[in-house]
Amino acid sequence: MASVVLQNIRKDFGSLTVMNGVDLTVEAGEFCVFVGPSGCGKSTLLRMIAGLETSTSGKISIDGKDVTDAEPSARGIAMVFQSYALYPHLTVSENIGFGLSLARRPKAEIQEKVRQTADILQLSHLLDRKPKALSGGQRQRVAIGRAIIRNPKVFLFDEPLSNLDASLRSQMRMELTELHAKLGATMIYVTHDQVEAMTMADKIVVLNGGRIEQIGTPMSLYHDPATPFVAGFIGSPK
Ligand code: ADP
Ligand code: MG
Repeated sequence: MASVVLQNIRKDFGSLTVMNGVDLTVEAGEFCVFVGPSGCGKSTLLRMIAGLETSTSGKISIDGKDVTDAEPSARGIAMVFQSYALYPHLTVSENIGFGLSLARRPKAEIQEKVRQTADILQLSHLLDRKPKALSGGQRQRVAIGRAIIRNPKVFLFDEPLSNLDASLRSQMRMELTELHAKLGATMIYVTHDQVEAMTMADKIVVLNGGRIEQIGTPMSLYHDPATPFVAGFIGSPK
Protein backbone atom coordinates (compact mmCIF):
# COMPACT_ATOMS: atom_id res chain seq x y z
CA MET A 1 0.00 0.00 0.00
CA ALA A 2 1.36 3.37 -0.96
CA SER A 3 0.21 6.92 -1.47
CA VAL A 4 0.71 8.72 -4.78
CA VAL A 5 1.30 12.47 -4.64
CA LEU A 6 1.37 14.75 -7.67
CA GLN A 7 2.63 18.31 -7.19
CA ASN A 8 2.13 21.02 -9.79
CA ILE A 9 2.39 18.62 -12.73
CA ARG A 10 2.70 20.16 -16.16
CA LYS A 11 2.98 18.30 -19.45
CA ASP A 12 3.64 19.82 -22.86
CA PHE A 13 3.83 17.97 -26.15
CA GLY A 14 5.60 20.62 -28.21
CA SER A 15 3.28 23.63 -28.18
CA LEU A 16 0.35 21.57 -26.83
CA THR A 17 -0.13 21.86 -23.06
CA VAL A 18 -1.92 18.70 -21.92
CA MET A 19 -1.61 19.14 -18.12
CA ASN A 20 -1.23 22.44 -16.36
CA GLY A 21 -0.76 22.62 -12.61
CA VAL A 22 -2.18 19.32 -11.43
CA ASP A 23 -2.01 18.73 -7.65
CA LEU A 24 -3.38 15.49 -6.28
CA THR A 25 -2.96 13.10 -3.37
CA VAL A 26 -4.14 9.52 -3.77
CA GLU A 27 -4.17 7.97 -0.30
CA ALA A 28 -2.64 4.57 0.39
CA GLY A 29 -5.20 1.83 -0.27
CA GLU A 30 -7.58 4.14 -2.07
CA PHE A 31 -9.49 3.28 -5.27
CA CYS A 32 -9.13 6.54 -7.17
CA VAL A 33 -10.81 7.03 -10.54
CA PHE A 34 -9.73 9.61 -13.13
CA VAL A 35 -12.60 10.62 -15.41
CA GLY A 36 -12.84 13.13 -18.19
CA PRO A 37 -13.57 13.43 -21.89
CA SER A 38 -11.47 11.74 -24.53
CA GLY A 39 -8.21 13.60 -25.13
CA CYS A 40 -8.20 15.42 -21.76
CA GLY A 41 -4.94 13.76 -20.74
CA LYS A 42 -6.02 10.84 -18.54
CA SER A 43 -3.67 8.34 -20.17
CA THR A 44 -0.82 10.83 -20.21
CA LEU A 45 -1.22 11.46 -16.47
CA LEU A 46 -1.26 7.71 -15.75
CA ARG A 47 1.80 7.19 -17.94
CA MET A 48 3.64 9.91 -16.03
CA ILE A 49 2.85 8.16 -12.73
CA ALA A 50 4.10 4.91 -14.29
CA GLY A 51 7.26 6.60 -15.54
CA LEU A 52 6.46 5.79 -19.18
CA GLU A 53 6.25 9.52 -19.90
CA THR A 54 8.25 12.34 -18.30
CA SER A 55 6.48 15.40 -16.90
CA THR A 56 7.60 18.78 -18.22
CA SER A 57 7.68 20.07 -14.64
CA GLY A 58 6.37 19.11 -11.22
CA LYS A 59 7.01 16.33 -8.73
CA ILE A 60 5.67 12.80 -8.37
CA SER A 61 6.03 10.83 -5.13
CA ILE A 62 5.05 7.24 -4.46
CA ASP A 63 5.01 5.92 -0.91
CA GLY A 64 6.68 9.11 0.27
CA LYS A 65 9.59 8.75 -2.15
CA ASP A 66 10.34 11.23 -4.95
CA VAL A 67 10.12 9.14 -8.14
CA THR A 68 9.93 12.02 -10.62
CA ASP A 69 13.04 10.80 -12.42
CA ALA A 70 12.88 7.12 -11.44
CA GLU A 71 12.71 4.27 -13.95
CA PRO A 72 9.28 2.56 -14.29
CA SER A 73 10.69 -0.64 -12.74
CA ALA A 74 11.82 1.27 -9.63
CA ARG A 75 8.38 2.71 -8.83
CA GLY A 76 6.59 -0.34 -7.41
CA ILE A 77 3.71 0.02 -9.84
CA ALA A 78 1.98 -2.29 -12.33
CA MET A 79 -0.15 -1.08 -15.20
CA VAL A 80 -3.08 -2.78 -16.96
CA PHE A 81 -4.08 -1.49 -20.39
CA GLN A 82 -7.23 -1.56 -22.48
CA SER A 83 -5.65 -3.95 -24.97
CA TYR A 84 -4.53 -7.02 -23.10
CA ALA A 85 -1.32 -7.60 -25.08
CA LEU A 86 -1.01 -11.24 -23.98
CA TYR A 87 1.63 -13.45 -25.57
CA PRO A 88 -0.38 -15.63 -28.01
CA HIS A 89 2.10 -18.52 -28.03
CA LEU A 90 2.22 -18.80 -24.22
CA THR A 91 -0.35 -20.47 -21.96
CA VAL A 92 -2.35 -18.58 -19.35
CA SER A 93 0.04 -19.87 -16.71
CA GLU A 94 3.10 -18.73 -18.66
CA ASN A 95 1.52 -15.36 -19.43
CA ILE A 96 0.79 -14.72 -15.75
CA GLY A 97 4.25 -15.88 -14.66
CA PHE A 98 6.13 -14.15 -17.47
CA GLY A 99 7.51 -11.27 -15.42
CA LEU A 100 8.81 -13.63 -12.73
CA SER A 101 10.40 -15.88 -15.37
CA LEU A 102 12.15 -12.85 -16.83
CA ALA A 103 13.39 -12.00 -13.35
CA ARG A 104 14.70 -15.60 -13.15
CA ARG A 105 12.76 -16.49 -10.04
CA PRO A 106 12.87 -20.20 -9.09
CA LYS A 107 10.35 -22.38 -10.95
CA ALA A 108 8.63 -23.62 -7.78
CA GLU A 109 8.11 -20.06 -6.58
CA ILE A 110 6.66 -19.00 -9.94
CA GLN A 111 4.30 -21.98 -9.98
CA GLU A 112 3.07 -21.24 -6.48
CA LYS A 113 2.51 -17.55 -7.21
CA VAL A 114 0.76 -18.32 -10.51
CA ARG A 115 -1.48 -20.74 -8.60
CA GLN A 116 -2.38 -18.13 -5.97
CA THR A 117 -2.97 -15.44 -8.59
CA ALA A 118 -5.14 -17.71 -10.75
CA ASP A 119 -7.13 -18.60 -7.65
CA ILE A 120 -7.86 -14.94 -6.89
CA LEU A 121 -9.00 -14.34 -10.48
CA GLN A 122 -10.91 -17.60 -10.99
CA LEU A 123 -8.56 -18.72 -13.74
CA SER A 124 -7.38 -21.96 -12.13
CA HIS A 125 -9.21 -24.19 -14.62
CA LEU A 126 -7.77 -22.28 -17.60
CA LEU A 127 -4.04 -22.31 -16.82
CA ASP A 128 -3.07 -24.54 -19.77
CA ARG A 129 -5.08 -22.66 -22.38
CA LYS A 130 -3.69 -20.25 -24.95
CA PRO A 131 -5.16 -16.71 -25.07
CA LYS A 132 -7.07 -17.36 -28.29
CA ALA A 133 -9.15 -19.99 -26.46
CA LEU A 134 -10.30 -17.44 -23.86
CA SER A 135 -13.20 -14.99 -23.76
CA GLY A 136 -12.52 -11.24 -23.62
CA GLY A 137 -13.20 -11.14 -19.90
CA GLN A 138 -10.90 -14.08 -19.24
CA ARG A 139 -8.13 -12.43 -21.26
CA GLN A 140 -8.49 -9.23 -19.28
CA ARG A 141 -8.29 -11.28 -16.06
CA VAL A 142 -5.00 -12.78 -17.29
CA ALA A 143 -3.70 -9.27 -17.94
CA ILE A 144 -4.70 -8.29 -14.41
CA GLY A 145 -3.03 -11.48 -13.15
CA ARG A 146 0.25 -10.40 -14.71
CA ALA A 147 -0.01 -7.20 -12.66
CA ILE A 148 -1.03 -8.90 -9.38
CA ILE A 149 1.79 -11.44 -9.43
CA ARG A 150 4.36 -8.65 -9.23
CA ASN A 151 2.82 -7.57 -5.93
CA PRO A 152 2.91 -3.86 -6.79
CA LYS A 153 2.29 -1.10 -4.28
CA VAL A 154 0.14 0.74 -6.80
CA PHE A 155 -2.03 -0.59 -9.66
CA LEU A 156 -2.66 1.66 -12.64
CA PHE A 157 -5.57 0.79 -14.94
CA ASP A 158 -6.15 2.54 -18.27
CA GLU A 159 -9.72 1.89 -19.44
CA PRO A 160 -9.28 -1.86 -18.85
CA LEU A 161 -12.90 -2.77 -19.56
CA SER A 162 -13.68 -0.66 -22.60
CA ASN A 163 -13.21 -3.55 -25.05
CA LEU A 164 -15.72 -5.74 -23.22
CA ASP A 165 -19.45 -5.96 -23.85
CA ALA A 166 -21.86 -4.35 -21.40
CA SER A 167 -22.76 -7.39 -19.28
CA LEU A 168 -19.15 -8.47 -18.95
CA ARG A 169 -18.19 -4.92 -18.04
CA SER A 170 -20.60 -4.87 -15.14
CA GLN A 171 -19.35 -8.26 -13.92
CA MET A 172 -15.72 -7.11 -14.15
CA ARG A 173 -16.60 -3.91 -12.30
CA MET A 174 -17.71 -5.99 -9.35
CA GLU A 175 -14.70 -8.27 -9.62
CA LEU A 176 -12.27 -5.36 -9.61
CA THR A 177 -14.00 -3.83 -6.61
CA GLU A 178 -13.69 -7.19 -4.80
CA LEU A 179 -10.07 -7.45 -5.88
CA HIS A 180 -9.36 -4.04 -4.41
CA ALA A 181 -10.93 -5.09 -1.10
CA LYS A 182 -8.99 -8.37 -1.12
CA LEU A 183 -5.56 -6.90 -1.94
CA GLY A 184 -5.99 -3.58 -0.14
CA ALA A 185 -3.67 -2.01 -2.71
CA THR A 186 -3.75 1.55 -4.00
CA MET A 187 -5.51 1.61 -7.36
CA ILE A 188 -5.72 4.43 -9.89
CA TYR A 189 -8.27 3.71 -12.56
CA VAL A 190 -8.81 5.75 -15.72
CA THR A 191 -12.14 5.69 -17.51
CA HIS A 192 -14.47 7.88 -19.55
CA ASP A 193 -17.40 5.78 -18.26
CA GLN A 194 -19.43 7.53 -15.54
CA VAL A 195 -20.96 4.26 -14.33
CA GLU A 196 -17.52 2.80 -13.64
CA ALA A 197 -16.51 5.95 -11.80
CA MET A 198 -19.67 6.14 -9.69
CA THR A 199 -19.74 2.45 -8.74
CA MET A 200 -16.05 1.71 -8.16
CA ALA A 201 -14.40 4.84 -6.80
CA ASP A 202 -13.55 5.84 -3.25
CA LYS A 203 -12.51 9.14 -4.82
CA ILE A 204 -13.20 10.57 -8.28
CA VAL A 205 -10.89 13.07 -9.97
CA VAL A 206 -12.62 14.93 -12.80
CA LEU A 207 -10.14 16.14 -15.43
CA ASN A 208 -10.92 18.69 -18.10
CA GLY A 209 -8.83 21.03 -20.21
CA GLY A 210 -5.54 20.06 -18.59
CA ARG A 211 -6.75 20.76 -15.04
CA ILE A 212 -8.56 19.05 -12.21
CA GLU A 213 -12.15 20.24 -12.32
CA GLN A 214 -13.19 18.62 -9.01
CA ILE A 215 -12.12 15.90 -6.57
CA GLY A 216 -14.60 14.10 -4.34
CA THR A 217 -16.49 10.98 -3.42
CA PRO A 218 -19.05 9.76 -5.98
CA MET A 219 -21.87 11.03 -3.75
CA SER A 220 -20.33 14.45 -3.16
CA LEU A 221 -19.81 14.99 -6.91
CA TYR A 222 -23.30 13.80 -7.65
CA HIS A 223 -25.02 15.96 -5.06
CA ASP A 224 -22.66 18.93 -5.07
CA PRO A 225 -20.95 19.37 -8.45
CA ALA A 226 -18.59 22.36 -8.42
CA THR A 227 -19.05 23.28 -12.08
CA PRO A 228 -21.61 22.77 -14.86
CA PHE A 229 -19.05 20.50 -16.54
CA VAL A 230 -18.96 18.16 -13.54
CA ALA A 231 -22.73 18.25 -13.25
CA GLY A 232 -23.09 17.33 -16.92
CA PHE A 233 -20.45 14.68 -16.81
CA ILE A 234 -21.55 12.87 -13.66
CA GLY A 235 -25.23 13.53 -14.06
CA SER A 236 -25.86 12.39 -17.61
CA PRO A 237 -25.76 8.72 -18.54
CA LYS A 238 -23.38 7.61 -21.29
P1 ADP B 1 -7.09 10.65 -22.84
O1 ADP B 1 -6.43 9.42 -22.33
O2 ADP B 1 -7.78 11.46 -21.77
O3 ADP B 1 -8.03 10.37 -23.97
P2 ADP B 1 -4.42 11.36 -23.74
O4 ADP B 1 -3.63 11.46 -22.49
O5 ADP B 1 -4.25 10.12 -24.55
O6 ADP B 1 -5.95 11.64 -23.42
O7 ADP B 1 -4.06 12.57 -24.67
C1 ADP B 1 -4.13 13.93 -24.24
C2 ADP B 1 -3.68 14.85 -25.36
O8 ADP B 1 -2.29 14.70 -25.57
C3 ADP B 1 -4.35 14.57 -26.69
O9 ADP B 1 -4.56 15.81 -27.32
C4 ADP B 1 -3.32 13.76 -27.43
O10 ADP B 1 -3.44 13.93 -28.81
C5 ADP B 1 -2.03 14.35 -26.91
N1 ADP B 1 -0.91 13.38 -26.91
C6 ADP B 1 -0.86 12.22 -26.21
N2 ADP B 1 0.32 11.59 -26.39
C7 ADP B 1 1.03 12.38 -27.24
C8 ADP B 1 2.33 12.29 -27.82
N3 ADP B 1 3.15 11.26 -27.56
N4 ADP B 1 2.72 13.28 -28.65
C9 ADP B 1 1.93 14.34 -28.91
N5 ADP B 1 0.69 14.49 -28.39
C10 ADP B 1 0.24 13.53 -27.56
MG1 MG C 1 -6.64 7.42 -22.86
